[in-house]
Amino acid sequence: GDELVQAVDRIMTWADAKRRLQVRANADTPEDAARARRFGAQGIGLCRTEHMFLGERRQLVENLVLAETDQERQEALDALEPLQRQDFIGLFEAMDGLPVTIRLIDPPLHEFLPDLTELSVRVAVAGDDATPKDRRLLEAVRRLHEQNPMLGLRGVRLGLVIPGLFAMQVRAIAEAAAECRKAGGDPRPEIMIPLVGAVQELEAVREEALGILEQVKQSTGVDVPAMIGTMIELPRAALTAGQIAEAAEFFSFGTNDLTQTTWGFSRDDVESAFFGRYLELGIFGVSPFETLDRDGVGRLIRIAAEEGRRTRPGIKLGICGEHGGDPDSVHFCHEVGLDYVSCSPFRIPVARLEAGRAAVAAEGSDSR
Ligand code: PEP
Ligand code: MG
Repeated sequence: GDELVQAVDRIMTWADAKRRLQVRANADTPEDAARARRFGAQGIGLCRTEHMFLGERRQLVENLVLAETDQERQEALDALEPLQRQDFIGLFEAMDGLPVTIRLIDPPLHEFLPDLTELSVRVAVAGDDATPKDRRLLEAVRRLHEQNPMLGLRGVRLGLVIPGLFAMQVRAIAEAAAECRKAGGDPRPEIMIPLVGAVQELEAVREEALGILEQVKQSTGVDVPAMIGTMIELPRAALTAGQIAEAAEFFSFGTNDLTQTTWGFSRDDVESAFFGRYLELGIFGVSPFETLDRDGVGRLIRIAAEEGRRTRPGIKLGICGEHGGDPDSVHFCHEVGLDYVSCSPFRIPVARLEAGRAAVAAEGSDSR
């Protein structure tokens, strides 16, 4: 027992001394953040804020969607803001002194709303007795229904279409950081915009966010710098990364969506639909959702890194798709010269180890 623990410790110390990649965690709760830190995480590379709107808070998102006036919408946002502020305070405390990349809300809104069929049946069965709320809800669910929600109103698109939503989150981040700083902490927020395909989208969000950061600085008297960056998870974003870098202080590669959109494979259905058969037939040896596809997705990452650096030398580059914890993918990230990989807390030791091995392998090939 003890000997094994010591051996693992020695290997990790060796890997940490050798590696050039930083290793961060994908974490959305203070508990996950604390666990990740025990595993050696050097910050949070992805906090998926949509996970904070489940459970009881669904109701508040429903109110936001159902708001018919500016005032109703503002009330819904005002109810969400203090909850978000508390969420972020918890993360900043757990990761005190380390970067915390907070991604603004990403998924399609209908994920927070009742199912269209279920609700239609409920309203139909109730007939004249259907509640006004259910009727309005049905209208909203119909309005937001999409055939391909993963290619629809999500990420930055949602932030631009629902006024005040991203602003509420940015304010919560800034106020949480100010509060932690006042309490003697060292919060290091980074604000990340999802599913950007064009620099224009990012510019619009960035401008609003910078205004809010300035407002909070004035109102709290505390200046906590927060970088604003973007995910690169659409082929168009990778190809136009030179433009996007004008408005982004960092890139984080979202290889889950980037794999989906590069291949045209649904990340949710690929295995059940045909990929298992592909593997059986030996057409591919491994799923591109597990190990980063160097020829397609990897090529886009190389292009984006190069373009981004041309516009903004030294731009911070990371990866936060599932590949961030896959050994072969970690080697690829080292080769491309990313600054960090971010993965789920339990994969952190493997990522540290592989980052060390990748650095040593590169040394070996340099000296040859
Ligand atoms: C990604 O697309 O790789 C990513 C990290 O974001 P999500 O998995 O939340 O879509
Ligand atoms: Mg994504």
